[in-house]
Amino acid sequence: MSAHIIEGKKISEEIRGELIQEVTALKEKNVIPGLAVILVGEDPASKVYVGSKEKTCGQLGIYSEVHRLDENTSEMDLLALIDRLNEQSSINGILVQLPLPKHINEKAVIDAINIDKDVDGFHPQSVGNLTIGDNSLLPCTPAGVIELIKRSGVDIAGKHAVVIGRSNIVGKPVAMLLLRENATVTICHSRTTNMEVIAKQADILVVAIGKAKAIDSRFVKPGAIVIDVGVNRLENGKLAGDVDFDDCINSASYITPVPGGVGPMTITMLMKNTITAAKRANGIEV
Ligand code: NAP
Repeated sequence: MSAHIIEGKKISEEIRGELIQEVTALKEKNVIPGLAVILVGEDPASKVYVGSKEKTCGQLGIYSEVHRLDENTSEMDLLALIDRLNEQSSINGILVQLPLPKHINEKAVIDAINIDKDVDGFHPQSVGNLTIGDNSLLPCTPAGVIELIKRSGVDIAGKHAVVIGRSNIVGKPVAMLLLRENATVTICHSRTTNMEVIAKQADILVVAIGKAKAIDSRFVKPGAIVIDVGVNRLENGKLAGDVDFDDCINSASYITPVPGGVGPMTITMLMKNTITAAKRANGIEV
């Protein structure tokens, strides 16, 4: 039987509808959530991402300002801007678009963001809070993965989740969030042996490796929920996930497509984080 396709675009729109209501309710309390996005340089993909973030803020009624800085901006100037935004009360979230030019130390920049405004969830203290179960803003793509699973009506508790990939921005935080939802979690990576056997034990299989169609039905237990985080550009210009969708659709019970699965959730969860940060800054219950 063919899997149920998890429509990330539709779920993302559903959440955006809820967020518009939250922003409207906040405005009645004279609170307008604000997001500052910093873009250094001219990376074409980064420019597109920043543009989408700005547009989505507008659609949801979130105040946004984009700081477009020259490629040669010094680390000191960038840190000074972050300091200012840390103090600026109209700004609840600060996002520095990565990657940064090579002369800037990415870690120093992330570390400089006030964790109450860390809407990307990459600050070491946010990561620590996530790990020990304290309140923190959650990294957007991993939070989107959990939201997609939950909104598909799947109960995560007690399931065996296998995460393929252990990056700091996707694999590790997805694993921590699944653990927090009471899944039993296994993490695989490039040095894992017998990955096919391990993956095939998964009730929930999350793949984030950055290799087009690397995971086919040999890795999928019949009836598994398959979440594909990968975004890869094929030679023909089309996008493909890390999962061979056509090969897995008859083994999985639920599966995300690429594009239109996890992708649309990332900006939506960024908006959610900005609203959460605004609520916390104003002593409003989240
Ligand atoms: P990354 O930093 O390159 O990490 C890839 C991870 O996959 C590493 O942990 C690596 O293992 C592991 N890996 C690579 N090849 C493998 C293999 N053949 N078998 C098992 N594990 C393997 O990538 P990332 O930043 O996590 O991104 C992963 C994918 O998600 C990319 O396609 C990226 O474009 C996509 N992505 C999408 C979104 C979104 O939709 N919004 C957001 C972020 C990322 P080692 O640690 O051993 O090297």
